[in-house]
Order: sequence, then structure tokens, then C-alpha cells
Amino acid sequence: MLTLGPNDIVLGCQAADWEKALDLAAQTLHEAGLVDAEYRHGLYQREAQSSTYLGNAIAIPHGTPESRQYVRRTGVRVIQFPQGVTWHDGQRVYVLVAIAAQNDEHLDILRQLTHVLDQDGIAEQLANTQSTERMAQQLSKPVATPRLDINTLCLKFPARDIHELAVAAAARLRQAEHVDPTFINQIAAQSPIWLGQGFWLVSADQGVKQPALSIATPHTDTDKTFSHQGHPVHLVFCLAAQGQAHRPLLEQLHTLLTQANSEQLLNADAQRLLAQLAGEDEHTHTTRVRVLNPHGLHARPAKQLVQVARAQACAINIRLEEGSAQSVSAASLTKVIGLGARRGQWLVLSAEGEGAETALAAVSEAIQSGLGEKVSPWHERQDDHPQTLTPEHSLAAPAADQIHQAIAAAPGMAIAPLFVVRPLQFDYPHNASDPAQERQRLKQAIQQGATQLQTLIRDAQGDEVADILSMHEEMLDDPELRQAAEEAIQEGRSAEAAWWEAIDTAAHAQEMLADRLLAERAADLRDVGRRVLSVLCGIHPPTPPEHPYILVMEDIGPSDVARLDTARVQGILTARGGATAHSAILARALGIAAVVGAGETIMALTDGDMMILDGQRGQIIPNPDSARLETARQQLAQQEQRAAEAWDHRFEQGQTRDGHRIEVAANLGNTAHAADAVTRGAEGVGLLRTEFLFMAHASAPDRETQIQEYRQAIEALDGRPLVARTLDVGGDKPLPYWPVPQEDNPFLGLRGIRLALTQPEVLDTQLEALLIAAKDRPLRIMLPMVKDIAEFRRVRERFDQLLAALPETERATDVQLGVMIEVPSSALLAPTLAAEVDFFSIGTNDLTQYTLAIDRGHPELSAQADGLHPAVLRLIQMTVEAAHAQDKWVGVCGELASDSGAVPILVGLGVDELSVSARQIPLVKARLREFDLMTGQQLAQQALTQATSADVRDLLENV
Ligand code: PEP
Ligand code: MG
Repeated sequence: MLTLGPNDIVLGCQAADWEKALDLAAQTLHEAGLVDAEYRHGLYQREAQSSTYLGNAIAIPHGTPESRQYVRRTGVRVIQFPQGVTWHDGQRVYVLVAIAAQNDEHLDILRQLTHVLDQDGIAEQLANTQSTERMAQQLSKPVATPRLDINTLCLKFPARDIHELAVAAAARLRQAEHVDPTFINQIAAQSPIWLGQGFWLVSADQGVKQPALSIATPHTDTDKTFSHQGHPVHLVFCLAAQGQAHRPLLEQLHTLLTQANSEQLLNADAQRLLAQLAGEDEHTHTTRVRVLNPHGLHARPAKQLVQVARAQACAINIRLEEGSAQSVSAASLTKVIGLGARRGQWLVLSAEGEGAETALAAVSEAIQSGLGEKVSPWHERQDDHPQTLTPEHSLAAPAADQIHQAIAAAPGMAIAPLFVVRPLQFDYPHNASDPAQERQRLKQAIQQGATQLQTLIRDAQGDEVADILSMHEEMLDDPELRQAAEEAIQEGRSAEAAWWEAIDTAAHAQEMLADRLLAERAADLRDVGRRVLSVLCGIHPPTPPEHPYILVMEDIGPSDVARLDTARVQGILTARGGATAHSAILARALGIAAVVGAGETIMALTDGDMMILDGQRGQIIPNPDSARLETARQQLAQQEQRAAEAWDHRFEQGQTRDGHRIEVAANLGNTAHAADAVTRGAEGVGLLRTEFLFMAHASAPDRETQIQEYRQAIEALDGRPLVARTLDVGGDKPLPYWPVPQEDNPFLGLRGIRLALTQPEVLDTQLEALLIAAKDRPLRIMLPMVKDIAEFRRVRERFDQLLAALPETERATDVQLGVMIEVPSSALLAPTLAAEVDFFSIGTNDLTQYTLAIDRGHPELSAQADGLHPAVLRLIQMTVEAAHAQDKWVGVCGELASDSGAVPILVGLGVDELSVSARQIPLVKARLREFDLMTGQQLAQQALTQATSADVRDLLENV
């Protein structure tokens, strides 16, 4: 999405002619680091093809596809010419929106702009504004586009009553990310409204991110149609309302209500329903045509289309067949660009009245011939799979010897040749004549899949891998899945088609679930499905090379990761995916460096090409030159040697070179991993994130269940201390069965201890379970997100009562109750807290977020949320001083504790314990052995006097 900041805008420019203006655009993009200087030629070539004038006094210069190689990063710069410039097509331009786009992202940028340009008077406002902030606001103003498209339809859903149907519709909106779970709860709690015929309505306005309308119809088997309050249920509208923004949806709802017969809609497929919603009836002539332009309907072909449409005798409307159920005028450039049509998508053209057919044929013909661009026919297979694209429109691989930024998913550095794995292609007949034989084939394939999984589970490295593969094995055993496939075989489907349809239906149903974690299991189902399909089709994944390599894939499924030979796979690079995907979690568990979400262009890299992959920074450098390669190799060799030495000394106690003791403990989210942490040298658990235990259950675990789970960690720790944090949900960690009302700022709302205190009995059960599980063992309990002593006292009071109620022989006696320092107020008030708490543990992730006012998950800003910011360091200093004055200890359990630069500073500030992820323990201990306390103290004092985190980092570089 286009978000512009004031720094992306240059006001008050002057240019004698359009060429000078274009030069300025090229220079501005170059100076912003978005493009190389050569991109300027691309801008000129593009104007030579046709003007980039968009309308409303705005031109949008951008390069040709060939000049994309000079784009370093996608971005936009806005340049204002208050006196105006005459463009080469005679138009007067006051604002240039210069675009640098690596692939088709510019379509989204254009789409967003067209919504802005639709506003009356915008040209004058943009030409005259003297404030970059105001201009940024105007251009990036999010336009709440109401959604009703193929993704919000939920047709023929196997519901048993109207409530299930309504919730399925709501879940569909959540899956499309238009609403959050609060919305689903609202829908589940209400009684549907009868609208006449078989139509029903449910609606809510809480938890709505974007106004949207879902339409759900029940499974069509007439025996199973049901009624509610004496009326038939044929269709449920589920409206996500937002202010006035959902009004256009009500109009579409009205169209359906007045023009359609609900009973006929029971069997309607998505295409038919969308056509009805678009108002196409028996008087409307329509025709479908596929977009063949390599980069979709971007400005130039869109302009041609508009011209052809305007030349016709009757008005023509246009829509995406699977897009929004609303047609737009084909004579409006901004509307046509606003469709965001990409190559391969079908357009539906419609017109009414005399001459409609001729007009449609003319426009359709123009689209088929490429609207002035050279186009090639659409081949389903080739276009779906980039590896077989013809060179003409194949994607350019990321430029050689350049740093490309993507998403860091698992730390570590890899330098190795690439092994590029394209998606497997399954070719199979859909029908078969001998059901008995197909059943037998399927049975054997499932059996073989299960055997493969058992072998993988046996060889699996890491608990997570085995856990996930076991879950896959259970999925294979699912009788409902088999039954669905067998029924389809009985009806004449081949084993392959029957199996895949059963998998796909189940995965689809899973995706509809409100619970994000459960919904993510759909990926696992498909993974299992492909395993059996590979057996049936006799397709084997390509054989990896014998030498070490970096694996490149579009996306990587859990079983792909599990299959990896960690001795040979040095790194993983994927086109899609995010840092929290299952595969990324597994890569971290296996200690394989991984970078994800690098974009489709990486699939154009060649097998055997060399690459430097930095999983810590999320960067890749394809085909590095020899100097860069050599430097990276040296770095890697040093890292490896350091890691090996650190591993050998992992059981030594944590201390600085001169013997100052620092306890090094592990951060855990799963009590089953405590034993592994001990083998990595953990001197205790410094942070047990108990919310993950709660998230793994469908409802709050009872006392006994919790005791069992905590005991697992306590026993593995064998006398080492356990610091358990009480339930910390809310903010970015929702708990499905503990919904929090919709909040504008969840991080500033009901989370952590504030939320826990709204249901203190849940907290009591947890405290009791911890006390009982830790009988005869050291136990530290800490409260998250405490802002001042009042919150602590409320818990302390309850805690003391619990202690008094439990006989000493049945519970832990070596117990401390502390707080996390995550909110600046608690650091500032540390002296008042230190008088009553037993210890502090500083959560630098949140403390940094709240001190610097930067959302820790912000896609662009989070890199600036550096815990080494002097403001954060000062709060740490205050906390430590206050604690030590009262003889209390202080730990740090945020990510900063494992930052090798930060370790000496934290020690120098007086921190007593560092709690880090289990894999980091040997390295943190090694880092401690490298410096003396005094050095740390001097460094800390210097760091405290710096002005910015960059200054602190510079200081560290120079010591
Ligand atoms: C922190 O905020 O630093 C912390 C350790 O807690 P969490 O990351 O779980 O919010
Ligand atoms: Mg926190």
C-alpha cells in the first residue's frame, strides 16, 4: 500500500519544460536511493511510447519494463510545480508522481492514486499546498473501499442452521482480512433479520477493518435446506459496517433483493452471483475477454481502452470477472486503472441498447490485440509457473552483486550456490472407470505417505519438526478425509482428483475458522495432500545437489523443511511467506539461515549461481563479485569458529573475563523445550511466556493441566530457577477465547496484567498451578506490563492469600514475585516499585516500543525501534540503580539481551541476568568472556551520553 511521508515530497519546484521536469524526477528518485541514474532513460523511453499524464493535472512518470533492472527498491516521490509545466501532450501538469517499481507493484500504487484523483478539486489543492504533511495526507489517505467480490462469497456452505451460515460468512470476511475476531463474536451473538423471500441479514460494526459484504448460501442438497423462525434460509448477507463507507454495499444488497429469486441463488456459482450483483440482467449484453498485457492494464493500455470505449455508440461498463461485483465505466481512465487488472484475469464488458453487441466486439477486439502493446497468448500452465515463462515476459532475476532486502526469518549467514526448486506439477486424469482399483491405489498411496512421514519423524531434528510431522501423520489418518475421497471415487473420479478435492475442501473449511492458528493448519493439510498426490502421480521432488547449497523456493511447506538435509542446506530463500510462518519457525528451530518474502523475481535465479544470504538482516546478494565474496567468507569463517568455540564452553557459568557473574537463562514459549535449553547451557529459564501454553488450548487450561505443563519445565531444569511470566495476552497476542473489545490502539489498551486483572480468577488458578508445580524448586513469578505499584499490590494481595491457603508442604517455598519493566512509567517509578517487588526483568521489546512510540511490528519503522537508544538505556539505568539500592536483582529478557553489541552495555549498567533464546546461550556466554566489567561500565557511561541509537552503534563500532 502506498504510504507517503513528508520526506517523499518535494514542493515548490520549477522547470522550464517537461524534459527538465522529467530530469528532476529521475534525479529525485536517484537521490532517494530508489533507482540508479540509468533509470532516467527508462522514464524518457516510457514518455516516448505515450504520455504518462493521468488526469487532474497529474502525470505519473515511470520506467519501461526493461529499465526495471535499475530499480533498487520500490517507491514513489512526489514533485510539485506550482507554476505548472506543459507536458509533451499539451496537458498542464502541476504534480509529478514519479514511480520506481521492481515489478507490478506500480499497479497497486496507481490504483491507490486513482481513488485519490477521483476527488473534486484535488488538482488545485495539490498544486497550491505548501505543506508536505498535508500533501502526504491527501495522497495516502486510505480510501475505505467497500469489498464485495469473489473472496467475500461463501457459497454452498455445509451449514446445519442459519447461525452456522452467518458465522461462516463472517469467517470468510475475516479470512479476507476485512474484519477481526471481535466481528465474528458479534455476529455469532446476534439473531439474523428476515428480509423477505429466503434472504436474511446479519451485521456488525465492531472489529471492522474495511467495510465489506459477505454472501453465504447453504449446501444445495434440497433435503438439507433449512428454515429459521418459520422462513426458508436461502441466503445470508453478512455486513461489516463502517460509518457511511458501507453504503454502496447496501445498494448492491438491494439490487439482489429486488431483482433476484433467492431460491435460484441456492445453486448459483460465484460468476453468476457476481453478474447479478453487477446489475447485469436479461437486457444486458456481455462479453468476456482476457487481459494479455504482460503488466496488466497499467496506465498506457488503460488509456487506449478508454479511447476505444469512448468511440462507441453506447456506454460500456467493465468489471473483473472474479473481482469486485461492481462494474465501472470503461470511459473513465481512473476507474479502469482502479480495476488493477493483471495479465490472465478475465474482464466482463457489458452494454445495453442498440449497437451494444457491435460496441462490445470492438472493445473486446482492442483488448485482445493488446491495446497498443505487444502481447502473447495466455497459456494456463506457463503463466501460472514462472519457470516456463517465455523470455519475452519472464521476470528479471534480482541484479547481480547488489544487496536485495527481504524479510529476515532465521539468523545466520550462508554463502553457497543456489538450488532453485520450482513448484511440482501434477498431471492426472480426473475421471476413472474402475472405482475398486482407484480405491486401492489411494489406499496404497496414503500408506506410502504415512511411511515417508514415519521415516521423517524418526530422523527429525528438533522437537517442532517432529511435532508437525506427527500432526501430518494424524491428518492422513483422518477417516472423514478418506471417506470424502472414497465417495468421489465411487462417483467416477480418479484417485488423484478425489483425494485432492477432499484435501482442498477440508483446507478451505479450515481457512474459514476464526482462530488464526487453526486456520494456518490449512497449509499443513495441503502439504499432506501433495505428499500423497506425488505418490499417486509418481512424481519425485528434484534431487538436491551433493554439495552445500541455498534452497530457493516459491514458498516452503513444513514437510519441505523437515526433509532438509541440514548438513547440505546452508540457507533458505523464499519468494513468499513471512517471518511468522510455520516454515520460518522451523528454520529457526533447525538453525538454518533463512530469508523470506523476497518476491517472485528470485524464481528467475539460476541453479548454481552463487549467493550471500544474511538471515540476520534479511538480505541477499546474488552473484557477488570476488571481493564481496571474499569478505563474506571471512566473516562467515569467523562466525563459525566463534560458534564452535562457544558451544564447547556452553556449560561454563556466565561471567565476564574478570569473573563478574551474570546469569544466562533461556526464553521459552513451550515447557517441553526446557530440557533442550539445559543442553545448550541455560542456567535457568529467565522468561517462560505462559500465554503460548494458553494459546495451545481451545479454552483456558484448568489447574491440573497447567501443573502438568509447568512441571515439565521445572523437572528439566533440575533445581535451576524458573522465571514464569503470568498470562500476557492482548496487543499482538490475542487469545481466541478471551476476546478483547475492539480498540484503536491495542498496544495501549487492555493487555498484560491489565487484562488479567479483569478476570482475576484465571490469574489465581495460574499462580496456584505454578506454586504447586514448583514444590521444592526455586520459582520466580513476574507480572507483565505493570505501570505502577498499584497494579503490583493488587496481585500481591491475592498472591499472599493463595500462599497462606496452600500448605507449605504442597507448594514452592523459595518463591519471588517480581515485575517486568516494559512501560516507561515503571522504570521512572522504579524506586517505589523496588521497595516492594522481589526482582525486575526488563522487557526491552516493549520498553523500546513505548519509549520511542514505535509499534514493534511496524513494517517500516520497527527497524528504528532499537533498544540501544540512549533513552531506553537511561530507563534501564534508573531501573538497575533503584533495584540495587534495595538489594533486588535485575534481568533483561527482551531481544536486546542477545545483541552482541548490547551485552557489554547492559552488564556495564549493572544488569544481573540475561535471558535469551536457547540457541543464543552459548554465544552470549562467549560474548561475556570477552570483556571486563570495567570496560562495560565505561562503555555504558559513554552510551548514556549519546543523542541517538545510531550514535551508540557508532560508538560500539569504534571500541
Ligand atoms: C519484552 O517486551 O521485551 C518481552 C520480553 O515480552 P514480549 O516480547 O513477550 O512482549
Ligand atoms: Mg513484552
